[in-house]
Amino acid sequence: MNSAGNLHAYPPASEWLRLEVDEPPRFWVTIDTEEDFDWAAPFARTGYRLDSVPALAACQSWFERAGVVPIYLVDWPIVADDRARDILGPAEQGGRCEIGAQLHPWVNPPHDEEVCARNSYTGNLPPALQRAKMAALRDAIRDRFGTAPTVYRAGRYGLGPETGAMLAELGFRCDSSVRAGFDYRAGHGPDYRAAPLHPWWCRTDHGAVLEVPLTTVFGGLLGQAGRGLYHRATGRGGRIGAALARLGLVERIALTPEGIPAERACEAIDIAIAQRLPVLTLSFHSPSLQPGNTPYVRDQAELELFYRWWDVVLDHLARRGVAATTAADILARASHFAPAA
Ligand SMILES: [Zn+2]
Repeated sequence: MNSAGNLHAYPPASEWLRLEVDEPPRFWVTIDTEEDFDWAAPFARTGYRLDSVPALAACQSWFERAGVVPIYLVDWPIVADDRARDILGPAEQGGRCEIGAQLHPWVNPPHDEEVCARNSYTGNLPPALQRAKMAALRDAIRDRFGTAPTVYRAGRYGLGPETGAMLAELGFRCDSSVRAGFDYRAGHGPDYRAAPLHPWWCRTDHGAVLEVPLTTVFGGLLGQAGRGLYHRATGRGGRIGAALARLGLVERIALTPEGIPAERACEAIDIAIAQRLPVLTLSFHSPSLQPGNTPYVRDQAELELFYRWWDVVLDHLARRGVAATTAADILARASHFAPAA
């Protein structure tokens, strides 16, 4: 089978992008910017809220004060919202944020599929429909914000084998949908257990796309050896994985304020630095910016904790010499390592 453009066909370690000898790693903040929906309810085309959109203003100001240029990966309902455009548009124009695309297929036209759990992963849709949704989203972002997006994230991390080639064909240059260390097969999604944490160039017939995976490390007494054990254990039911974490043997730590305490995230950052990862990808979902939308921020006190998390984590990154970067900068640096076509 031709694996060109298949973001699920992971490259050998010899093709991972690496730091120069004295080069420090960098981090970027990626925000899945999307409608508020009930995370426990079935998927639906309608009935979502956009109540958290005004909270993007406080978020943007917060990161500006912190000297971070975040990237908002906006989905269809956000692109259609005037308030979102009025907050994010000027910030993008001023170079204070970046805007990329995030595809939630159940709320993104054209609507030709049954709305169900399986079809919530864009990569599971027929290729022509997947491509049509991606093109519609790209065009909407270009029309609303004036610039076509170059960075893509599949909602629910739902890449298909054809997605990489489509991204290149549609003018995207970077994908950040690979959530290394996670396995979504139980919900009809992808299996990223074996995915690299280093970025790599995915070659397609339409050019190359840079994959920058979300950062998830394995901590605990077993260190990196724990990754395999963690996956074998969770393969037999999540309870064993939880027991391993309780014993301090293996712990999976994603770089997100959503469900990960700040001190754990700082440990994960230290592990990522020790592994010489060139780029640390931090992420969260914009509905967490307003109390009551996600399980992670249920009230005002938890919203304060959310921003406190960023205080602690950004301080730690600064102390460890890890500076904030942007998608544009990541792409520029990575182009030096572009593999021959
Ligand atoms: Zn999403």
